[in-house]
Order: sequence, then structure tokens, then C-alpha cells
Amino acid sequence: MECSRAVKKTVKRHLAEDATLKKALQIISDPAGAEVDLVVEYRELAERYRKLNRKLYKTLVISDLYQLESKQLACKLEETLQNYQKLKDVALPICMVCHKIHTTNDYWERLEDYFAKNADIMFSHGICPDCIKVTYGKLGEKVLEKQRYAAEIKNHAVPKEHQEDEALKEMRQLVERAVRSENPLTTDIQKIAKNHAKLLRRFDKIVSLGDSYQSQLRDFNLRLELMAHTDPLTTCNNRGYFMELLGIELERSRRYERKFSALMLDIDHFKSVNDTHGHAAGDEALRTLTSVFRESGLRKSDFFGRIGGEEFALVLPETDLSGAVDVAERVRCNLEKTAVTFANCQFFITASIGVSVYQNNDSAETLLQRADKAMYAAKETGRNRVCRES
Ligand code: GH3
Ligand code: MG
Ligand code: MG
Repeated sequence: MECSRAVKKTVKRHLAEDATLKKALQIISDPAGAEVDLVVEYRELAERYRKLNRKLYKTLVISDLYQLESKQLACKLEETLQNYQKLKDVALPICMVCHKIHTTNDYWERLEDYFAKNADIMFSHGICPDCIKVTYGKLGEKVLEKQRYAAEIKNHAVPKEHQEDEALKEMRQLVERAVRSENPLTTDIQKIAKNHAKLLRRFDKIVSLGDSYQSQLRDFNLRLELMAHTDPLTTCNNRGYFMELLGIELERSRRYERKFSALMLDIDHFKSVNDTHGHAAGDEALRTLTSVFRESGLRKSDFFGRIGGEEFALVLPETDLSGAVDVAERVRCNLEKTAVTFANCQFFITASIGVSVYQNNDSAETLLQRADKAMYAAKETGRNRVCRES
């Protein structure tokens, strides 16, 4: 990636400063009339200054690249967000861990509070306050402490000399001695000391800017990745990502000769749900179904996705057919008991579920086809039931 013109200009200026320094070093390599100690120190400091100069423009270029990349990602993120009309605020309320969307006022208040204290974690990991406690626990506290400390430093005026870099202190002492000794190099030393201090301050600023760009980039990347994997209506895995995960599970089971099962679920008479309560209520029913999946005591290694309009698939690693039928029955039962609440109405939905188990040489398609066939058998035999592959 090309760096910006402003950076190129700054780099050029610093290279010129570098050349001036080289010249100064040549002059003092013949220390006629100068106190030897002072010249040696001067040379050392000048060398340090040159190193800092080089470090500065390297950091500057990196920081600038981060900035450009951040901007590009922000544009990409905005574009993606526009496609996610249902999730206008996806940049914040989707949690990377629980994948829940949080829209209540209470959530926003807690989020603000957490932002104030844990901005880094929140941004770089996109985790909601509930999950941050579970996932990061003590780390969250540590960051909190660090930030409290930083705030304390900011709020209490620290005496200037404590903030100064060691090199700056040495430089100041050298200047004072040079002035006292009325050495011919005094003017040079004063100039270089001034530049050195300026450079140090600029360097610090750019390093912290670079850090912040870097964490923004991390944040953007994580959010884009999450959005690419997520179904915007329900926030569960989308078809593409579900199939990717299934591919991994197939590979794993093939290699280690393990069993796993697949469930296909289709909501019963969903057309009439839409016709009776409206499409928005139908959407709410899809979200309710997703919560039922999440609250049906699945294992951490289980995963599911929305693979069509009102069709979902669930994969249960290390689970045989009868274990998978039990899980399917649990999901079916929980679903029929869970009310869908939308606006002023409340209604119930049911689903038909088909179950298949992995056979040697199964592909994702053959495995899901058998589960699909079983699901149709459940429809044909009365709906709101679980059928296993025959
Ligand atoms: P069956 O019991 O045989 O499955 O009957 P059904 O009415 O559910 O039939 P089918 O599965 O063919 O109908 C799917 C319906 O789901 C059609 C479509 O209007 C609705 N649908 C698909 N995607 C969405 C969506 O994102 N939101 C809403 N509200 N409805 C959807
Ligand atoms: Mg269907
Ligand atoms: Mg249906």
C-alpha cells in the first residue's frame, strides 16, 4: 500500500535533518578547541538523535498505512452495514460471544459504562458486558485498573521532570554544561537538544496514534468477519458459514472415524403465521426459534445455522442417532411451549425435524439430504414431530 503525500513530505524533511546531523558529526570528529568529554557526549547524543529520527519516520509510515487501511475498512464496513437494514446498529449490539443483539435501554446504559472503563476490550473484541465478565473475568478488571491508573496520571499534574525521557534529561544537562563552559559547540548542541525534544514528543504521539489505528483495524476486521458469518435477521450462523463448519466437522469425523449427527428443522405452516400475524411477526418467530436453540442446553461444540427462509440445520458432533433424536425432541418441545411475542399479539409455533447420522463417505449434501427426507416424513405424518432417517 502506498503511503500518503503528507507522510512522504515528513519523511523527506526528516531525511534532510538526518543529513544535517551527519555533517555536524563530521565537524566535531575534529574536536579542535572543544573539551574532549563534551565532544564525546555530543557525538553519542547526536547518534541517538539520528536513530530516533529513523525510528520516527518508520513509525510514521506504519501509522499512516494503518490509518489508510482503517479508512478503507470503515468504508467497507459502512457498505456492509447498509446491506444489513434489519441490523442498523450491528456495529455495536451484536456480541461476538453470545451473538445476541442488545437493544434495550438498560443495555445501552451498561454499554456506556463499560466503554468508559474497558474501551479497548469492547472495541477490539466486540463483546457485550455480560459475556465480557464470563470470557475475560479478571482481564477486564486488570484493564480497568490500568485505565484507572492512566486516568489518575492524567488528572494529577505530574512534575515535568518525571515525564521526561532519560535521553532528554541527559541532553539538558549537556546543554547546561556546554553553556557554562562557553564551548564553541554550544549553539550546535542547543539546536540539536531542541530538535531532539521535539522529535521525542512527536514520536510518542505517533506511536500512540499507530496503536489506536491498529486496535481500530482489529475491531473492524472482527466485525466484518462476524457479519460475513451471521444471518442478520436471527444473528445465528448463515448458510455459508454453517456449511463451512459442517465441512470441518466432516473432515474431522472422517479422519478420526467418529460419529456425528445432523438435524433439519422446518417451521410448520409458516405461511399461515405470516398471513395471520404479518411478516414482521413471522420474523420475530424466526428470532424466537433461534433463542430456543440457544436455550436448549446444546453443547459448546454443537452448531446451527439458518439455511433457508424458515429452515434451520443443527450439527451435533460426537452424537449418535438416538442422542440426536433426544436433542431434536428437546428443541421441538421447547419450541411448542415458547410464546412468540410481537407487538400486542402472542402466538405459538411448532416445527418438524428430521435427523440423520454421518456415514462413511458422506458429503455435506448427502448427510443433509437424508435429514431433509426425514423432516418431510415428519411433515407427512402430522408435523410437530421428530423423524429419524430410515
Ligand atoms: P409446512 O408446514 O409444509 O412447512 O408449511 P409452510 O407454510 O411452512 O410452507 P413452506 O415451508 O413452503 O413456507 C415457507 C414460508 O416461509 C414462505 C415464506 O413466506 C416464509 N418465509 C421465508 N423466509 C421468511 C422470512 O425471512 N420471514 C418471514 N416472516 N417469513 C419467511
Ligand atoms: Mg420450508
Ligand atoms: Mg415450513
